[in-house]
Amino acid sequence: MKTRSLWLTLFAAATIALAGARAQERLEIFDAHLHYNQEPNPFYSLDQVRDVFRRNGIIGIIANSRPNKGTHQLTDAKWPELKVVPFIRPYRVRNDIQTWFNDPTILELIKEEYSRGVYRGVGEFHIYGKAAESEWVKTIVDFAVERQLYLHAHCDEEALLILFRHNPKARIIWAHTGFSVPPARVAELLDQHKDALWGELSYRGGIAGSDGKLTREWRDLFERYSDRFLLGSDTWINERWFGYDTIFKEYRSWLAQLPPEQARRIASGNALRLFDLGGAK
Ligand SMILES: [Zn+2]
Repeated sequence: MKTRSLWLTLFAAATIALAGARAQERLEIFDAHLHYNQEPNPFYSLDQVRDVFRRNGIIGIIANSRPNKGTHQLTDAKWPELKVVPFIRPYRVRNDIQTWFNDPTILELIKEEYSRGVYRGVGEFHIYGKAAESEWVKTIVDFAVERQLYLHAHCDEEALLILFRHNPKARIIWAHTGFSVPPARVAELLDQHKDALWGELSYRGGIAGSDGKLTREWRDLFERYSDRFLLGSDTWINERWFGYDTIFKEYRSWLAQLPPEQARRIASGNALRLFDLGGAK
């Protein structure tokens, strides 16, 4: 009798563990900050990239690359398990990061890429402070708004506000959600730019403590704005590809501490909604 109850207990424990693992597996993830850079060769072949996505439960990506060739490859791959949302990277080489906002040839690059007819956004691009006031930046923001393209902006708060001033109809995915901008200020900005601003969370500080537990501030922020955040790997250097599994293990660890409907929105629901790809709300 004793042995039997022990087995039952073990069986119950195993069932619960399995259910827990399944619940984790079921959380589908959209990587909203993916670079497939190639200067001149990618770190991983397409087959290896596919393997990385499968292993991590990635069902969709915002794809961009320097140069844009990597994005073309990901778009052309047409893997049935992966939704690819291509964004135009306004860079040919790394140094363009410093100069693109004053470089008329970048507008030509954007127009030429756009003519491929597949793009949903422009970015990720880097811009800080008053540099955003350049006439080329305004032209690019207007170009994006007219074509209903999202902007994926790696910027400080000052530049973010200038982008919205250029064109209040801009729709901006804020790469890294300002890195360290206080959560209370993030909340204000989200309130001020409804249907226009979303926060992407790669490299964002303060979400979880060193013990892996969600901080009070971010738990509250997610409770109020779970429809406004996206996850991203930001594979800007090879090390990020190497660490891809770890990046998403960390995301999953704090997502598991949120109510499931909030976790689902942040993990993939918001991205699917933004790009009209169906799926969870
Ligand atoms: Zn990036």
